[in-house]
Amino acid sequence: MSDCLKRFASSLVVSCQPVPEGPLDHPDQVVGFALAALASGGRGLRIEGIANLKAVRAATDAPIIGLIKRDLDSSPIRITPFLEDIAALAEAGADIIAFDATDRVRPIAVAELCKAVHAHGKLAMADISNIDEAKAAVALGVDVVGTTMSGYTGGPEPSDPDFALLAAAVRLGRPVIAEGRIRVPEQAAEAIRLGAHGVVVGSAITRPEHITHWFADAIAAARAASSQPTLAFDLGGTKTLVALVAGERVIEVSERTTDRHLDPDAWCDAIAELAAPWKGRYGAIGGAVTGVVNGGRWSALNPGTLPVSTGYPLADALASRLGQPVTLHNDAQAAAWGEYRFGAGAGRDLLFITVSTGIGGGAVIDGKLLTGRGGVAGSVGLVQESTGVPIETLASGRFLADAAAALGHPVDAPAVFAAAAHGEAWACAVLDRSVDVVARLFQNLQLLFDPAVMVLGGGVGLADGYRERLEARLAHLSPHLKPEIRAAALGKSAGVIGAADLARRTL
Ligand code: ADP
Repeated sequence: MSDCLKRFASSLVVSCQPVPEGPLDHPDQVVGFALAALASGGRGLRIEGIANLKAVRAATDAPIIGLIKRDLDSSPIRITPFLEDIAALAEAGADIIAFDATDRVRPIAVAELCKAVHAHGKLAMADISNIDEAKAAVALGVDVVGTTMSGYTGGPEPSDPDFALLAAAVRLGRPVIAEGRIRVPEQAAEAIRLGAHGVVVGSAITRPEHITHWFADAIAAARAASSQPTLAFDLGGTKTLVALVAGERVIEVSERTTDRHLDPDAWCDAIAELAAPWKGRYGAIGGAVTGVVNGGRWSALNPGTLPVSTGYPLADALASRLGQPVTLHNDAQAAAWGEYRFGAGAGRDLLFITVSTGIGGGAVIDGKLLTGRGGVAGSVGLVQESTGVPIETLASGRFLADAAAALGHPVDAPAVFAAAAHGEAWACAVLDRSVDVVARLFQNLQLLFDPAVMVLGGGVGLADGYRERLEARLAHLSPHLKPEIRAAALGKSAGVIGAADLARRTL
């Protein structure tokens, strides 16, 4: 192997070819790129054009692969098509002269180009696009083969390097330089592992215009994805909410009573029906449901809230109806996330407690949403009351209705609130029983997790006067035990807004 090739064995070669006619297309800039590359681990250079080559040669004695690019009417060959080009490159100081060695219509045969390079005492580099061209070039006696032309002889341009060609060419036993679409260090390393003699990197180092485009395009794509609304649903024991959500805004919403006597398949049908008018208007789908969610499967925590069989494949059932993947979370966890991102939490750690048909909870600690059973507070048992009875049985919207009925007032939760507002003793007593239980929950959770804020949501939690009663019940606590309680700033939309944001994050 020649001394010149040895100087960049298993090393980086930097191609310093500015975008033609661009603001950096000047020999002074090319010299700058070349010296910067050599000062930073580059061991060789690839330089196009006589003026650039002369300028760089005057600045360094590092190995240089020289070439001339031409746009010919009569041939697709662009890299060093003529014998005069070879002479000029040799005279300007190239150590290695690269030429297109693809099997296409050309002004001068590859054999003649190779012979001319050798006649000038230089090394011949054949830029090929496939293994047959590589074999032909090796047979002609070229000193080094480059994978440069792979992907550039017709058809759509690939985005990745052609490592299959590299590996095949290496087996021919002649030094092979990996070149073409090597954009990240891992690809350069892979080329070396595959046996490349050297790795040429061009655009990713010396074309800021291309690099800027890569970043700008990625940002634009992310912007487009995040500006497209997200479809979100919140399936609770009382109501089913379906919404189109953009960021923290609900653009459109439909609501329907959840028919507790039906089954998960029917509830999925209802969601699909409510979402049907928005087909094509959303980029992702997120859902929030009462109960436990694990890997897209849904199980009831309390069949009294909604009777779901264990492990119902809800994400799949909805994805097949809506034609897109569905990201699922527990409803209170989704709401906790919504309030953390856009609502009462304002980015501070929080616990969210919903007092609704049942009682649910969600926690965001150190910026992370607890999933699975994490923070699902409604099923916490209260030892003082009756061992094993979940607190939601003793405090939720269903409790209010049941307790009212037991006192001879068969009404729903809103009617209990209305009666309490009129000072009816039975209603105030029922509400206070619920508030007592929820107050203990808040006090205990504050000490267990110490969130910056505890957010109260749900049809009952947000109903007139409930939070005030709760705060009054906790007023006796010393300041270091007392939670800071806020009403859900996103109201009953907390679940869909949180579920939508969580779904967008999976894109
Ligand atoms: P889901 O449990 O389906 O998520 P909600 O958060 O609306 O639905 O909670 C439903 C419970 O809240 C029911 O028990 C309902 O009676 C009660 N509720 C809903 N709205 C009010 C209101 N304005 N005042 C009092 N209770 C309400």
